[in-house]
Amino acid sequence: MDELEKNLISMKDKYEKIFQEQAEYISSKVKKSDVNSILEDMEVKQREIFEKRNRYSCVGCGACCRLAISEFSYDELKTKAKNGDNFATQFISIFVPYKDISEAKKIFPEYIELLESQNENKNVYFYHCPKVTQNNRCPDYENRPQICRDFPDNPIAFLPKTCGFSAWKNEVEEDYMKNYASVEIIDYLFNE
Ligand code: SF4
Ligand code: SF4
Repeated sequence: MDELEKNLISMKDKYEKIFQEQAEYISSKVKKSDVNSILEDMEVKQREIFEKRNRYSCVGCGACCRLAISEFSYDELKTKAKNGDNFATQFISIFVPYKDISEAKKIFPEYIELLESQNENKNVYFYHCPKVTQNNRCPDYENRPQICRDFPDNPIAFLPKTCGFSAWKNEVEEDYMKNYASVEIIDYLFNE
């Protein structure tokens, strides 16, 4: 079992444990009248999680320029962009599809192998930015698109080992999962 697969299993286990703990706590202790203040506290925590991201920075490994993953094919993204989807518009203005999965595998083999082993590679499409230079530089770094600036936009994303935000992920992943689980549970219990 490789390191990434171990990470996936430990992340799933961690989330399951957090979800159970939060479900027990919320269902036994929280009343409907508490919900608004709990959601406000969670918003504060969420802001703190993303403020902590500012302590870390991109180290220019180029991995996210060389491998972007989407559940949508290039044609689907083009249709979404035509229909006004801002993310899709930015995405297709930056990335082009890899010819095949073997090209993508050269960039982040552990990730692709993990998707394959989980059988989750069927509806996943792999892209790259043709602008990134051989020494992993963005030719227009100061004006890079917003989705490039935002990567990684959450701490539960799989990150290559080389990513400068891996330490941020390690620092806040559990709190982020806790918030995420609480929102799901509150929504289920009180907004039926
Ligand atoms: S535009 Fe620049 S930062 Fe964005 S993917 Fe391309 S090379 Fe990387
Ligand atoms: S994977 Fe992380 S460190 Fe590497 S280029 Fe992207 S944001 Fe920067």
